[in-house]
Amino acid sequence: MAITHDLDQDDSIVSGMEFEEFDVIVVGAGAAGIGVGVSLLHAGVENFLIVERESVGASFSAWPDETRFITPSFPSNSIGMLDLNSIAIGISPAFSMKVEHPTGKEYATHLQDIVDFFELPILEKTNISSIEKIQDLFHLETTDTTLQARNVIWAAGEYQYPLLEAFEGSHLCRHTATIPSYKDLEGDSFLIIGGYESGIDAAYHLSSNGKNVKVFDLNSPWDEESSDPSITLSTYSFERIRNPKFEKNVDLCSQTAICSVELIDGIYKVNTEDGQVFESTSQPLFAGGFEGSHRFISHLFEEREDGFPLITENDESTIMPGLFLCGPSVRHDGHIFCFIFKYRQRFAIVAQAIASTLGYDTDEFVEAYRGWGMYLDDLSCCGQECLTC
Ligand SMILES: Cc1cc2nc3c(=O)[nH]c(=O)nc-3n(C[C@H](O)[C@H](O)[C@H](O)COP(=O)(O)OP(=O)(O)OC[C@H]3O[C@@H](n4cnc5c(N)ncnc54)[C@H](O)[C@@H]3O)c2cc1C
Repeated sequence: MAITHDLDQDDSIVSGMEFEEFDVIVVGAGAAGIGVGVSLLHAGVENFLIVERESVGASFSAWPDETRFITPSFPSNSIGMLDLNSIAIGISPAFSMKVEHPTGKEYATHLQDIVDFFELPILEKTNISSIEKIQDLFHLETTDTTLQARNVIWAAGEYQYPLLEAFEGSHLCRHTATIPSYKDLEGDSFLIIGGYESGIDAAYHLSSNGKNVKVFDLNSPWDEESSDPSITLSTYSFERIRNPKFEKNVDLCSQTAICSVELIDGIYKVNTEDGQVFESTSQPLFAGGFEGSHRFISHLFEEREDGFPLITENDESTIMPGLFLCGPSVRHDGHIFCFIFKYRQRFAIVAQAIASTLGYDTDEFVEAYRGWGMYLDDLSCCGQECLTC
């Protein structure tokens, strides 16, 4: 049975657990936290805890109702190719859910199923407010207690930390990460700032509901020929752009840099750098990406030039041994691991690093994970087409 606790119901749970000092605490029970938890188990580490401020898969549960995975799931495990949306060997969301492009809520349920299957130790409804290392132990503060661990894996994600301050008046816009459902948005016409996946997703759902939409982007993601998904859109989004309602209702505005948004007498004015002004009575939507949770622990890492944490070849802090990073914020040189099928390849690197310091033999573990493409330790062989997003 999974150890899933609610501190509101029983605040003595932590002190009542078998171990008070953990070998590892994982912060966040999203795709990265659960995935690395399974890897820890497979590597032989049992004395760990996954701490989650809300519930398992909370970020996925918070996606707009209509939003679906852009990466397809397929039950390809039987031929030795792990389902693209799988976070663990032997798991296939396509097989278990019978859905190719799951919604966020479906995926959150899938993560909970994995927690139940592997009996992962989860402490829910517990926010980690600070991390400090005293001698060899990390002290993690929650509202009710201080948790202690020899290692910490930060897997707190990005979704709950949207980029809100991007240009003058950006606070007047509504970030797409705060929209529960597109069908409930009032208004007949919408201005969307940002034309990558989230912006196109918003435009698709609004246009399907008969709304007129303009999408502004600094570049032109819908025209790019590149195979690099950080520059161009996914196949799924290109298919949506060709939908008749999208073609009829959506105006894609390339090379249109928005410099400010104003609200004057109930009218939103969206101003471009080249002097154009677009008006709407509906609140403009901002699909501008995420600041990321790593900002909150930036003092525990050296910083790269792009602001992301500098990490060792084991995804460990260069200045705080024992602190690891998992998930879409992982960066190595020019390689970005923003999709599940990319960052899952680093779970076993972290698990192996921790397991070996604890004295476990990890040879079989590494061999098995490598065989499934889940142990990526040689980045030199990977160009942008397999690693960058
Ligand atoms: C609209 C959209 C569509 C996407 N589509 C795809 C796709 O098709 N394919 C794909 O591979 N990826 C996709 N992604 C990216 C994918 O969602 C992310 O890679 C994934 O959510 C990251 O997982 P994570 O575990 O790092 O973070 P999260 O899923 O955000 O999990 C982090 C968890 O940490 C918890 N937490 C945060 N701070 C604390 C704290 N201080 N204390 C305790 N707990 C904390 C949160 O509650 C949360 O549950 C999409 C993202 C978005 C926004």
